[in-house]
Amino acid sequence: MKNTIYFDNSATTKPCDTALKFMNETLSENWGNPSALHTFGIYAEEELEKSRAAAAKVLCCRPDEIYFTSCGTESNNLALLGAALARKKRGNRIVTTAVEHPSVQNTLDFLGELGFEIVRLHTEKNGKISIDELNAAINENTILASIMLVNNETGAIQPVTAAAEAIKKSNAPALLHCDAVQGFGKLPINVGKMGVDLLSASGHKIHAVKGIGILYKKKGVNIKTVLNGGGQEKGLRSGTEAVHQASALRGAIEELGSIENNLKKMQELNDYARAKIKETGIAVINSPEDALPYILNISVAGYRSETLLHYLDAKGIFVSSGSACAKGEKSYVLADLGLSEKQIDSALRLSFSRYNTKEEIDVFCSALSDAANTLRKA
Ligand code: PLP
Repeated sequence: MKNTIYFDNSATTKPCDTALKFMNETLSENWGNPSALHTFGIYAEEELEKSRAAAAKVLCCRPDEIYFTSCGTESNNLALLGAALARKKRGNRIVTTAVEHPSVQNTLDFLGELGFEIVRLHTEKNGKISIDELNAAINENTILASIMLVNNETGAIQPVTAAAEAIKKSNAPALLHCDAVQGFGKLPINVGKMGVDLLSASGHKIHAVKGIGILYKKKGVNIKTVLNGGGQEKGLRSGTEAVHQASALRGAIEELGSIENNLKKMQELNDYARAKIKETGIAVINSPEDALPYILNISVAGYRSETLLHYLDAKGIFVSSGSACAKGEKSYVLADLGLSEKQIDSALRLSFSRYNTKEEIDVFCSALSDAANTLRKA
């Protein structure tokens, strides 16, 4: 859509040119089944392996530690269900945070119904869990911990490396899973240094296309499959691989360039947005200072999020009232952060991409001021 401002990149991103080019090439010329033994199948397999290697490079791991799935949600389900089922004889406690994405929260609720004990750690004022509380929550029955890298509503970055060290020291038989859907391709990630056993990511958050997810599984770590069938992806995720979507992911990764440089530019845009939004005098910033700069959560006290969202929408500015999945429900993430009801009711999430500019921030801020002059307070 022309002349619009898209600040909802944590929900999904615009597929980039290279992603579309690679996807179309695979779809039109290399559409074989990568499991087929004939040459056409082998070509498809080679294409798939190129994409696996590209994903592995982003995570600093071996290509054979990357498993393709359909999305971040599927990767989270597979990691959590697969790890819990594989380790159920060793214990039944699973430790997580109170601010995980619903694809983790709801999967753990399901495991809770199956008899696992789910312990949820609350976040502090800075949006992070405390490592002391993590230490207190881990016991000899703990078989799994799931801690997200970047929160999808606030951008808060969790201390995953410190969590991994704490788990290792505890001697608990626990695997560590990290939902890195909002951090993949945006923060430098080295899974070995981070100390995670399992990590989830998703293509459509980094300008690839919907329908492609990644699960990193450290070599030697065993989890059960939850999708039985033809044994694709080394038996972990049956179902014919969507080679063209994996090609799109490779295209998106190629177009990313330097993650560190992108992060610096994004910090500049975020700093500008924070300053300009504060200048309006009608909004406060909810995201912690050291949050991932791609996400900025704000509250415009006195105005309901939905009302503001629709006002901005009419002006061609697209933001979100929380996470895309929440669809208007009150944010448990902001509640856990200790924000007041008023702040939660009036929260907006802006999430940026490399296509956004300072000029767009200016347009947003003047629209926000117009909204405050035009709309009736809730
Ligand atoms: N985890 C986090 C933190 C997310 O933000 C999202 C999507 O917004 C997901 C998981 C789910 O990813 P997908 O949309 O690829 O299923």
